[in-house]
Amino acid sequence: MAGLTGGYPFPMFLLFGLRSKDHMVATRTMVCEVCGWNVPQAVLKRTTKFTLFFIPLFPVRPSRTFLQCQHCSAFRPADAHAAALR
Ligand SMILES: [Zn+2]
Repeated sequence: MAGLTGGYPFPMFLLFGLRSKDHMVATRTMVCEVCGWNVPQAVLKRTTKFTLFFIPLFPVRPSRTFLQCQHCSAFRPADAHAAALR
């Protein structure tokens, strides 16, 4: 908290961070390896962006793909094979 006022004539602060967001790009019906049901799996693409004052500015890492089961809600990274089938 010393950085909020220390040494400056005006209080200065920067609010920055990272924000990850998931976008559903597709659904695929396949057997879930967690519950074993053959149900639609949401294909989610996660992008992580640098934010300044809560405004997303630019991506800081390559997007990653995840699968979420619509039956048991298991959330796991999609392997390269599943991602290629999008
Ligand atoms: Zn499942």
